[in-house]
Amino acid sequence: MYNSNGYLWKMLLFILVAALPVAIVAFWLLSHDLIIIDYVFLLIVAAILPAFLLYTKLVREMQAVAFRMERAAVMSPLEGDGRGSLRSGLLPVDNLFLAMQQYRRVLQHMLKEAQARQDEASLLFDMLPDPVMVLGSKRRIRRSNDAANQFFNVDQMEGEVTAFLRHPALLKAIDAAYEGKDPEKRIEFTISDVIPRYVAAYIVNLKGESSEGLRLIVTLHDLTASRRMQQMRVDFVANASHELRTPLAILIGALETLIGPARDDLAAHQRFFTMMQAQSLRMSQLIDDLLSLSQIEINEHSRPSGRVEMAKVLQGVSSLIRAKSADLGKTISLKLPEEPVCVTGDFDQLTQVFTNLVDNALKYSREDSEIIVEVTTAGKEAHVAVIDQGEGIAEEHISRLTERFYRVDSDRSRKLGGTGLGLAIVKHIVSRHRGHLEITSVVGKGSKFSVKLPISVS
Ligand code: ADP
Repeated sequence: MYNSNGYLWKMLLFILVAALPVAIVAFWLLSHDLIIIDYVFLLIVAAILPAFLLYTKLVREMQAVAFRMERAAVMSPLEGDGRGSLRSGLLPVDNLFLAMQQYRRVLQHMLKEAQARQDEASLLFDMLPDPVMVLGSKRRIRRSNDAANQFFNVDQMEGEVTAFLRHPALLKAIDAAYEGKDPEKRIEFTISDVIPRYVAAYIVNLKGESSEGLRLIVTLHDLTASRRMQQMRVDFVANASHELRTPLAILIGALETLIGPARDDLAAHQRFFTMMQAQSLRMSQLIDDLLSLSQIEINEHSRPSGRVEMAKVLQGVSSLIRAKSADLGKTISLKLPEEPVCVTGDFDQLTQVFTNLVDNALKYSREDSEIIVEVTTAGKEAHVAVIDQGEGIAEEHISRLTERFYRVDSDRSRKLGGTGLGLAIVKHIVSRHRGHLEITSVVGKGSKFSVKLPISVS
């Protein structure tokens, strides 16, 4: 220890400084003949020895302090205080240690806060509803949030971003961002999948001081649902106008014939009037259905609170439709359980649901067949099934039947007075009642439309 860092020289200097005053006094005494030379050397040696001991003691204490400080610096402040006892010595180290402990506490607090902030940021990142990816150099994914992992259906996104997204415009924008150029604000593209997905991507360049190079944030926004909604709205307007234009064109045609060539043909008048009446009724029915659909949609979020006995609804529906069914030579059989079944709902809307379903069963079933309306319960649900013996519906149509204006056979539906909105109305009312509609069908045999509604408990 004495050889390194010039300890030896420092020690000699210290001893010299400590012994010098003694030596000066000793020589002054000698010059005045107050002591003899032997005592001078004795006095100097007597000063050198304690100076040497003092120096070595101080060096040892300094080393102990340095060791403590080194340990405190290496150890994480979160590991604890590391308060080891240091024997009190000559140096006034107590204040120094107090200051160090204070500093440690401040550091501990700051680290805990930084950790909490990092946890919060991490949580926030994972909770973001849109897929977000952080890219390191060479398009490598450094991090992805839960939404991104779900979007690409993986546990954790890893590797190059091109393994997940290969759209040229997006990759060009990512490369431009790496080069420090301002990437395009929004890049829209389609991901071809079983069902194509429309996506908008936003790229942000984090020009940090990171030693690991540039970092980019790529955020995706799934536009599929909104695009589909947009398309549905466009289709709806087109379909509604088309549905109204057809009877209107027939009406205009009939009127022109009545005013023109058939003006004096009294026999034709009756025919045209009957046709005009049918077309006016069709338009009126269409407008009624459109209005009730939009009314139901407005209230769809608010669940009805009434208590409705299903038997009363179904008896009402069957007596309303009985005349029509008798005309068609079809029978409606009600199968009700002995115990009354009540659901939480709106009487008029439930009547509309089962009128539409029984009316469809009448329209699309075989002549002289039976339509069964059956109520059962399963747990907390009431199941009301309308079963017909008819032509049935092919599998590929079933999932689309509740779309507005969707028909398996448009001409047939129109001839039977259908608007193509009946099942859309059913679906919206059932969903307002927090229930669900299930359709099963066997082509050539018949169909079963089951409405499942929550039972009213009180
Ligand atoms: P529509 O006014 O045409 O009856 P809906 O929305 O009530 O409109 O029904 C949509 C389509 O579903 C119908 O055009 C028909 O093709 C089919 N459909 C509905 N109910 C039945 C049924 N019971 N049997 C066979 N097909 C049905």
